[in-house]
Amino acid sequence: MDTPYFDIPAGANAIMEALKADGFESFIVGGAVRDTLLGNAIHDVDIATDCQAKVTTRILIKAGMKTVPTGIKHGTITAVLEDGSYEVTTYRIDGEYQDSRHPEQVTFTDTIEADLARRDFTINAMAYSHDAGLVDPFSGILDLRAKVIRCVGDPKERFSEDALRIMRALRFASELGFMIEPETAAAIHELRERVNEVSRERVRDEFVKLLHGKGAGRIMREYVDVISTFIPQLADLVGLNLNNPLHIHDAWEHSLVTFETIQPRRTEMLLAALLHDIGKGPKALGEEWAKGVDHAEISRRISEEILRDLRFPNYTIKFVGRVIGGHDDVFTPNRAMIKRSLRDFGQVVFLSILDLKHADILAHGPEAAEQVWRIDEIRGIAEDIIIKRECYTLGDLKVSGSDVREAADLEGKQIAKALGFLLDKVIEGEVANDRDELLEVLLGSMPLADSDE
Ligand code: ATP
Ligand code: MG
Repeated sequence: MDTPYFDIPAGANAIMEALKADGFESFIVGGAVRDTLLGNAIHDVDIATDCQAKVTTRILIKAGMKTVPTGIKHGTITAVLEDGSYEVTTYRIDGEYQDSRHPEQVTFTDTIEADLARRDFTINAMAYSHDAGLVDPFSGILDLRAKVIRCVGDPKERFSEDALRIMRALRFASELGFMIEPETAAAIHELRERVNEVSRERVRDEFVKLLHGKGAGRIMREYVDVISTFIPQLADLVGLNLNNPLHIHDAWEHSLVTFETIQPRRTEMLLAALLHDIGKGPKALGEEWAKGVDHAEISRRISEEILRDLRFPNYTIKFVGRVIGGHDDVFTPNRAMIKRSLRDFGQVVFLSILDLKHADILAHGPEAAEQVWRIDEIRGIAEDIIIKRECYTLGDLKVSGSDVREAADLEGKQIAKALGFLLDKVIEGEVANDRDELLEVLLGSMPLADSDE
């Protein structure tokens, strides 16, 4: 190989050179090869070698490198170098089966080709070294160019061995904007229930990556049957008529278009958009409709259940729940009302509710979309309030709890009540946010602040 076509990072190069000096071969494998050929940024560089992990450790230490025995049993060590960490793994033939039915035993092998054969997709089963060039026994390079996700070997076998691969296929198709090859796609649909054999955390991690991919809407449209295996409530939205003349889509398509429209594209907002109408499914509504609970509240409760089941952090569950719970509230372009909303929801949640309302309205269809200016008008006022640092929280008030205690001789709950009373007055524009004026108003209305205590 006289013309290298890879820019191997310096650290990886040093590791490969050290192994070579002792007579071993090594390759960059997997994601780094794929992403380099695509011209995408690479995050981690994995190296595969015919050298045993313990010997690799000795060689790298001799070359002055720091090593960590991260997975000796699986043939993996990590070399920590100046420009980053590198996983160096002995050629193996068994995959990393993620479910508990597979014992944690590993079989090593002598050839890079055998190692590549255990990998999930052709685009992930390429290796590169300056000496050997590109090693690509499954024509991954052609699938990269054709933008295709295709299993290495028989898709049904590969998904049966490890159902996490079903989620990985959808995730890579979404991230890279690729199609899934028909036989691989058919196996995904057929074996979709197996996803429930995989730990929820792993499913969640792949799902979140899927959500952030550029093809997320397209993939969820096409594979809603797979997504519904771990979010069963979604299936109820498919084909569901929203019975509103302004809605041009069924509930599922409406959720997808809202998801595709929402900004900013942080995980919590993507989830809120996708799940905002989950409570409109007939089963969900059936339970609570009679009790008069509104759909935003039902959607909030169901979303929180879904996210808890997927082991999302509490912060995410609460945030998404609050945004969904408020998405059907009616806000008007009234300054005092907007300040109360900023106070009650908090600034970030309130602005996020407006973001969701904006996307939700656009996703109804062209007639409703004309109404989006109403939300933007409210957002404009909220932004103005924030920029001008106008008072809408207790913290913004120019009097403190101790001021109130001293001036009006109040204690405990009475203090909180008095401050809330003054904040209301300031929000309504009845009093300026000025210490002397506020204390004067407080003393002047003492029986009010003091009542029912
Ligand atoms: P990224 O790191 O960008 O998410 P990646 O391709 O590097 O993508 P990793 O999960 O880091 O993905 O895995 C590294 C490589 O290990 C993959 O490219 C693939 O060759 C192989 N691999 C990972 N998970 C599996 C699996 N479940 N089954 C088979 N091979 C896998
Ligand atoms: Mg990786």
